[in-house]
Amino acid sequence: MNPQLDLFGDEKTPERRTKMGQSKIAYKQASSILTATSGFMKDYDYSINPYSGCSFGCTYCYAAFFSRDKEKMDNWGYWVDVKENALTLLKKKRKKPMIGKTLYMSSVTDPYQPIEKELELVRGILEELLEFHQVRLVIQTRSPMVIRDIDLLRQFKVLQVNMTITTDSEIIRKAFEPLCPSNKVRLKAIQEIKEAGIQSCITLTPLLPVDEPRLFAQSLKATGVERFIIQPFHPSKGKFVRGTRDEALQLLEEHNWDKREYQRILQIMQEELPQLGIGQSGFAPI
Ligand code: SF4
Repeated sequence: MNPQLDLFGDEKTPERRTKMGQSKIAYKQASSILTATSGFMKDYDYSINPYSGCSFGCTYCYAAFFSRDKEKMDNWGYWVDVKENALTLLKKKRKKPMIGKTLYMSSVTDPYQPIEKELELVRGILEELLEFHQVRLVIQTRSPMVIRDIDLLRQFKVLQVNMTITTDSEIIRKAFEPLCPSNKVRLKAIQEIKEAGIQSCITLTPLLPVDEPRLFAQSLKATGVERFIIQPFHPSKGKFVRGTRDEALQLLEEHNWDKREYQRILQIMQEELPQLGIGQSGFAPI
């Protein structure tokens, strides 16, 4: 934990940042940190979300629709709530260690928010999990910040880092994921994770229109990663957050994005990529 920003118990904590980049940052007391999973993630025991909201603001993000109020939903990508007592809550679990439990971090945010660089909340959680629990952990991110924690990640007995990459086109990426790190830095990061000896996976979830599917697949394989998961993107006008929605829908139209196009790309991916899991079964716990 960064001693400059020890959120857990020190009343004299230095002033906390309330804005980072385009995002408003708020600090909240959560009632729990582990959530029993259901639906798509039901094969895991728990999901763990150190933040709510997400600075990456993907246009299609389903988590946006879980927002408590319309303003938060409309401003998805522009706010992050820090669960400042996350580590305190997790420490309460020491009495009953989570041996062998499967954890997914995270289901409704990206654990490596830009503010994480200062707060090191996820890093504290990883240290706690390592020392007191033998969990089976999957980390899902779009951020290269995950490489900061390589020293901890490589100590887990069962762990996988999933890096999401949804297209080979920066035009598409900017329309659908305007506030996310570029594809290039994500690929570099997952390559670094893989080279550190950590089990790695690239998740094409959801798969967006792709310019050169075969070259795209080859660039993914060139990272050294051997596991992949793919999931179709089902556009639905009501299921886009505000912002670049219209531009994104127009690009889908221009790319003739439909089931047939997805099937065409899927077939190429199946030819090129080893260990390609599809949809929910692809996300099964490791
Ligand atoms: S990174 Fe994940 S949680 Fe964040 S906006 Fe994108 S899809 Fe949603």
